[in-house]
Amino acid sequence: MGERRQGGCACGEVRYRLASEPLFVHCCHCLNCQRQTGSAFVVNLLIEADRLEVIDGAVQPVDAPRDDGSVQRIFRCPRCQVAVFSEYGRPEVRFVRAGTLDDPTGVAPDVHIFTRSKVDWVTLPEGTPAVEVYYDTKALWPPESLERLKAVMPARR
Ligand SMILES: [Zn+2]
Ligand SMILES: [Zn+2]
Repeated sequence: MGERRQGGCACGEVRYRLASEPLFVHCCHCLNCQRQTGSAFVVNLLIEADRLEVIDGAVQPVDAPRDDGSVQRIFRCPRCQVAVFSEYGRPEVRFVRAGTLDDPTGVAPDVHIFTRSKVDWVTLPEGTPAVEVYYDTKALWPPESLERLKAVMPARR
């Protein structure tokens, strides 16, 4: 499945490697992501926590308040404070910030979510699914990714 993707923070203290391709790639246009990044959207690579190998440095968890009253745990470099990855309530899946990859051009979003708050000057490509809020994982994820997710999530209905 191609070369292992690597990335890290700005100062070089935190380095990571992905043990495989991501499960799915989100481009999120929600207000939380816009605020956290100071940008128009975030691109996140979803991957099993044990396939995200931090090979250098120790990330620092920071809980950022979200508009719905919950918090999002963001893992930052303790020195330069760049946000490298985060989690949304489920520690089994990490959301790696694509902009921290050594080669961010190597990934493209599989879906655009929360387009209800997308800024007007961003034009979405035709052919990539885009949803106002969220989507049904079973409908969009490749079967292989669904299997991988099932393997790491605790059994529950
Ligand atoms: Zn750093
Ligand atoms: Zn978001």
